[in-house]
Amino acid sequence: DADRKRILIGMSNTGGGHKASAEAIQAAFQERYGNKYEIFIVDLWKEHTPAPFNSMPDTYSFLVKNAFLWRFTYEVTNPKLIHVPYLSAVGSFVSRGVHEALDKYHPDLVVSVHPLMQHIPIRVMTERVKSGAMPPTNFATVVTDFTTCHNTWFCPGATRCFVPTEYCRQLALGNGMAPQQIILHGLPIRPSFSRPLSSRPVLRRSLGMDTGLPAVLLVGGGEGMGALEETVSQLDARVGDKCQVVVICGRNRSLQERLRARPQGPGHVLLHVCGFVDNIHEWMGACDTIITKAGPGTIAEALISGIPILLNGNVPCQEEGNIPYVIDNRVGAFETRPDRIASIIASWLIEGGEEQRAEFTAMGRRAKALGRPKAVYRIVDDLAALADEPCFDFGPAAAALLGQRNGAAAT
Ligand code: UDP
Repeated sequence: DADRKRILIGMSNTGGGHKASAEAIQAAFQERYGNKYEIFIVDLWKEHTPAPFNSMPDTYSFLVKNAFLWRFTYEVTNPKLIHVPYLSAVGSFVSRGVHEALDKYHPDLVVSVHPLMQHIPIRVMTERVKSGAMPPTNFATVVTDFTTCHNTWFCPGATRCFVPTEYCRQLALGNGMAPQQIILHGLPIRPSFSRPLSSRPVLRRSLGMDTGLPAVLLVGGGEGMGALEETVSQLDARVGDKCQVVVICGRNRSLQERLRARPQGPGHVLLHVCGFVDNIHEWMGACDTIITKAGPGTIAEALISGIPILLNGNVPCQEEGNIPYVIDNRVGAFETRPDRIASIIASWLIEGGEEQRAEFTAMGRRAKALGRPKAVYRIVDDLAALADEPCFDFGPAAAALLGQRNGAAAT
């Protein structure tokens, strides 16, 4: 359809977060603009690059479970001096794939939600604009890490870079981006999080939960990572039937089976075991608090939901800064030992005195105030404007992407 603007979102399935962000943007576009824009979400590494680069998502799954290897890869490639030449070397192999994607989709705007999808696509686009194979086209990065993040996110050649926090804005500045290139709206979270929810008792009834017992939501990202089973055991021992626990196992099937086989009834926590759910906003709305690894998506969602966050671990490197973010903003706590996690939950929900209860309520209020439910709409409105018209005012590096018309527009 020639009337519809086409937006190509480049992502890769390394972790669940990039895909979730791409889908959040797509859903908000649909809600805001109906069919005016056509959105293509493409795993550029998997679908459009030759081996061995197309196995990157699988390599990531392996590396990230081996903290040392991941940290090594991350730290070694973090300095610009290393990753810029590295990416241009890789680029000579993969740029053909990017050309193919551009030929196939003819985008009016290219958006990246992945740390490794700036330098190569921007270089390819710049070449095409220069050779007349493509009209001047904007390129936008939407950063989906929350605080600490890899420097490859920030390429001064992008027309815009959307960041979720002030911390990320500073990193973008440090990587040579101009202040007017960087926009701070927040993380793009699915629109379901910004719609009004039913009251907690109504939600609990519809989800099959007890309406009276305090409720803890236990999650480990899309993959059900972390010591979730041991945490359930410790909660069982510490608070028993004074509490209910919802465990979202994500794609971790064996965890789901093991939890379902646990003893139930008097003396035990009331367990609700789920696989991968698509209504996490309802579970967050129904629970009093969440225990999670320091995933950016889950943290941003819990803030919007206004529930205190107990962080129980993190992926090395890019999730590390999320821990001080939660602590310094006084919206939760960090504890990796399941027995101590159970004690914190007991003090927050069951045994705490009046002062502790007041502080727990205040944490929830502060979380709600920090949450950015409108971020996804603000990002989408800005992206729509970028798709409608190439912009010519974003510094010499970005100007290269926009080609000769930049000079023409300036005169
Ligand atoms: N998620 C979900 N259903 C599930 C488990 C997780 O929708 O059953 C979503 C969760 O709401 C969040 C994302 O998956 O949006 C996980 O992202 P996060 O950044 O927290 O961690 P990742 O899995 O990317 O490491």
